Amino acid sequence: MILDLHIHTSRYSADSSLCPQVLIREAKRRGLHGVVVTEHDCCWDRFQAQALAQEHGFLFLRGMEVSTDLGHILVYGLETYVPGIMRAETLRRVVEAAGGAMVAAHPFRRAFTRQFRNGREPMPRSLEEAARHPLFALVDGIEVCNGGSADSENRLAMEVCHYLGLTPVGGSDAHSEHGIGYYATRFEEGIASEADVVAALKQGRTQAVMYHAHENGGGYIESQGAARFRQARGWC
Ligand SMILES: [Zn+2]
Ligand SMILES: [Zn+2]
Repeated sequence: MILDLHIHTSRYSADSSLCPQVLIREAKRRGLHGVVVTEHDCCWDRFQAQALAQEHGFLFLRGMEVSTDLGHILVYGLETYVPGIMRAETLRRVVEAAGGAMVAAHPFRRAFTRQFRNGREPMPRSLEEAARHPLFALVDGIEVCNGGSADSENRLAMEVCHYLGLTPVGGSDAHSEHGIGYYATRFEEGIASEADVVAALKQGRTQAVMYHAHENGGGYIESQGAARFRQARGWC
């Protein structure tokens, strides 16, 4: 099954223009089997999400993108925002207690510019240095393919994910109908709930994939970043 694990809708993310109904329509058109909405510091109500899923006959699950002192972190399996989770270490404790999973979202966005982590950190000079960031000791997985990041940034995330043996995740980070499902995550087994997503992330049974358009309509293939990573030798 293929799900987009990182999407913002206008329902709860002020910076998104994507209404949930349009999201579901476009996700179906792309051939996705489901979506996980990850609003900024806010989680959808379980019953609202279930009602939408039933109305459209489509898997519509909930996560959250939490802004922390170590950057944005995608969280699955948490029902609500909890005070104090802007500290990543606190978030880890809260997520563990809830039986959830954490994924570093776009960890190297702007890594090759002076704006890396809001200008607070220099560009990493080696794979080991990039992997040493304290964020990675707290997460189960890394978003190795993010629709809002440059290829070089995604490639570095891919290398660090592999180096550390963490779970690879792909997500569009869509804030409008453009780009929904451009990157997504393939699961080895069937997914029917947030608990299934968490279990697969914990066990590393995922692959980052990318949508590839062709004459017969298009489909999902292993992401270019992943394919290039397999061919790469050493530090990019
Ligand atoms: Zn983000
Ligand atoms: Zn996001």
